[in-house]
Amino acid sequence: MRGLMMDTPLLITSIMRHAQRNFADRELVSVTSDNPRHRYTYGECFQRAAQLANALARLNLKPGDRVGTLAWNDYRHLEIYYAAACSGLICHTINPRLFEEQLVYIINHAEDRVLLTDPLFIPLLEKLVDRIKGVEQFVVLSGQQELADCELPNVVTYEEFIRGEPEQFAWPDLDENTAAGLCYTSGTTGNPKGVLFSHRSSVLHAYAICLPDVMCLSARDAMLPVVPMFHVNAWGLPYACPMIGAKIVFPGAKMADGPTLHALFEEEAVTISAGVPTVWLVLLEHLRANDAVLTHLQRVVVGGAACPKSIMEEFQNRHSVWVHHAWGMTEMSPVGTYNTLKPGMEVFTDEERWQVRAKQGRGMYGVEMKITDDDDNELPWDGKAFGALKVRGPWVCSDYYRLEGESDAHDADGWFETGDVATIDAEGFMQITDRTKDVIKSGGEWISSIELENTAVGHPAIHEAAVIGVAHPKWLERPLLVAVKKPDAEVTKEEILEFMTGKVAKWWLPDDVLFVDELPHTATGKLNKRGLRQQLVDYRFE
Ligand code: AMP
Repeated sequence: MRGLMMDTPLLITSIMRHAQRNFADRELVSVTSDNPRHRYTYGECFQRAAQLANALARLNLKPGDRVGTLAWNDYRHLEIYYAAACSGLICHTINPRLFEEQLVYIINHAEDRVLLTDPLFIPLLEKLVDRIKGVEQFVVLSGQQELADCELPNVVTYEEFIRGEPEQFAWPDLDENTAAGLCYTSGTTGNPKGVLFSHRSSVLHAYAICLPDVMCLSARDAMLPVVPMFHVNAWGLPYACPMIGAKIVFPGAKMADGPTLHALFEEEAVTISAGVPTVWLVLLEHLRANDAVLTHLQRVVVGGAACPKSIMEEFQNRHSVWVHHAWGMTEMSPVGTYNTLKPGMEVFTDEERWQVRAKQGRGMYGVEMKITDDDDNELPWDGKAFGALKVRGPWVCSDYYRLEGESDAHDADGWFETGDVATIDAEGFMQITDRTKDVIKSGGEWISSIELENTAVGHPAIHEAAVIGVAHPKWLERPLLVAVKKPDAEVTKEEILEFMTGKVAKWWLPDDVLFVDELPHTATGKLNKRGLRQQLVDYRFE
């Protein structure tokens, strides 16, 4: 027998309508290229989203067409999120830090028809424009930007684009499984892969991250997302905040700028913030140097990479801010686990509590986890056994965009293989211990070890090369190139690095090169990266 309840679709449009009705006066503050402190309300935001939807409709886009963004965290980016998704288009957020080849690949693979860009990226796009011919309209996210010298074809400013458009739009009744957002991840080998979020997955994920034992978001909060809106929808915050009426403070391009962040945190009375570990190092250093203390901030969510204990301690001891460790992936919308203590843990000693808080957290309702051994047997939750971490749930991807059926990211039972290796303890706290995927995460951004290895072996003196991530105090992980020279060949570290320069993004270049007589291999002859990481466990950059 079926239940007799309404089958109301879970649409991002419903978040927008709810915020318009209930939180129309709630403030949104942004740093943009044309205004150091723009402020307006949810009411105005969604009126302008309707204007943008009308402007996009004039371009004769088809339902499901991709609208690309190369943009920082600010109010115009939020308007694009809602205008695109709620009108049946797909908001494709692009990471501007990617290497040019990858940007071209992603824009073409997604077949973006419109590209909305921050003025800062105009020179970059001018270089790429001949290779991204599918883009029919460029929109520069600014008010009175002078575009006379801009070499992009069909280019207008955002304010020009939406000027005079009606402040209402006939938002379509969509199926809740309609695609809403697209984000490419380079967290695996090969070309970046597109993760295609639906309205339903975005709404459910937003509900989940608001929960008290997750981010505990409420109308009384002011959230400053340092995590970029081009990186998995700023961890879902652009949907969660309007859902509950939290104020949002967007740092624009200044997300790694200590003085700007400090001013925003204090002057806008920010209560909660979220970002990768590296940005917190910058902010804490600035606060220390200026003998300043954060007075409004209560909690910080740190994820994307393991959070060093020193960051948690400094926030707590100097600023009375509680750091919550979280873990997730682009493929998981992204939040999977979140670290809040369970009842009974208040009586723990400091040391015992730190041991729990260093872990990546407990699986939240909606994300099932398991760890398995090499033969796919499930391992116990005893905090000791470690194995491949697999997940499933309504906001975990079932496949990659335009690669349907081609990737081997899911096991036979449909569980998603995260590429992380973890333990799970009896209380359900998961801890990442290693990675099976061969990638390096530097300051929250991926570096492909395989691409570095292929580049290095292109040097005539190199026989074999392996690149592994090594702990780094600022970037948390940086690439180390370990190479075997060809017999009788002579080459120096400097020569190798010079050879690689220009062939990969500058920030990808290895921090050091070690020459060895041989590299470890598996039984099937593959490079044994895990073995190499173990061999070099004590290695430190100078
Ligand atoms: P991305 O898809 O770029 O968000 O990257 C997801 C990957 O980042 C995960 O599979 C992990 O390897 C890593 N990661 C994310 N959060 C954490 C964390 N809290 N601790 C350790 N690694 C993390």
